[in-house]
Amino acid sequence: MDAHTLTEARPAGGADPMAAQPPTFLESLLAAGLLIQTGVRGLYGRSAVFEGIADGLNAAFTRIGADQNAEVLRFPPAIGKDDFETSEYLKSFPQLAGTIHSFCGDDRGHRQLLARLEDKQDWTDQQQFTGVVMTPAACYPIYPVIGKRGPLPAEGKIVDVMSYCYRHEPSLEPTRMQLFRQREYVCLGSPERIVAFRELWMERGLAFGRALQLPVEVDVANDPFFGRGGKIVADSQRELKLKFELLIPVNDGAPPTACMSFNYHMDHFGALWHIGLHDGGVAHTGCVGFGIERLVLALLKHHGLDPARWPQAVRETLGGI
Ligand code: AMP
Ligand code: ZN
Repeated sequence: MDAHTLTEARPAGGADPMAAQPPTFLESLLAAGLLIQTGVRGLYGRSAVFEGIADGLNAAFTRIGADQNAEVLRFPPAIGKDDFETSEYLKSFPQLAGTIHSFCGDDRGHRQLLARLEDKQDWTDQQQFTGVVMTPAACYPIYPVIGKRGPLPAEGKIVDVMSYCYRHEPSLEPTRMQLFRQREYVCLGSPERIVAFRELWMERGLAFGRALQLPVEVDVANDPFFGRGGKIVADSQRELKLKFELLIPVNDGAPPTACMSFNYHMDHFGALWHIGLHDGGVAHTGCVGFGIERLVLALLKHHGLDPARWPQAVRETLGGI
């Protein structure tokens, strides 16, 4: 079997297969039909109930951010090769990136492709890179767009984005998906503007988590930078307190899961895409990201698999789901 596909929903080996074991959280979600198995780790269908909760969260984030005067921008979940290269994502997270390939050959090539399939051989080397890369984080498409518009307004700018994102991290933990949604508010402007924005959203994130009656805490964090050099970058990111996460216990016997993140990129994206401040100089940026699936899963974990039986106040916070 391909290393990336499977049908099981619990880690293999270890326990006596004859002994009755309580279902894992993932097994409960699949049994209740909230997530739908596709045979690929971290790739699930979602039921109407799951999507109803996701919609409630999204609408709540729109209400909470109504005072931000954010420009709403939506992109399909992919970016072009040039912007992807400029982002330097491959420097930091080569292990997470996903690229789109297509068959670009002629009739002869097509016959070869079909022969490979027929012989149950690898056919993917018959495909070529399309120049399209899956979006790794919802905010990535906006920086080149804003950069091309010229200097920012004097007060800076806030953008509201939402996208499916791809990260190659197949896992049996339902919270670690290969395709999931991030809703973000992105702030572009002076360093002080970004720091204040992030402070405000950490408070709002905590207050929202508490209104949802979830056991939340905020802690300093780092991104999973690749390799030995990555360890140094991750340590420095922690030391400079560039990333905070809102954590909620979700998975059985595992440390709490990051369900929101609060990031200060300094001038990284501003410099890469020439995003200028009103009075000259390079813009700083920051973003707050809400992991839609993880928040849905946290709610299901703590309040049960049937939202109709959740506390009334929680349902009201989600706009009466
Ligand atoms: P990050 O850009 O890594 O800070 O991610 C922002 C948010 O997206 C996280 O706080 C999670 O809630 C969510 N997220 C990140 N990776 C995954 C994943 N593999 N599966 C589901 N949600 C994720
Ligand atoms: Zn972001």
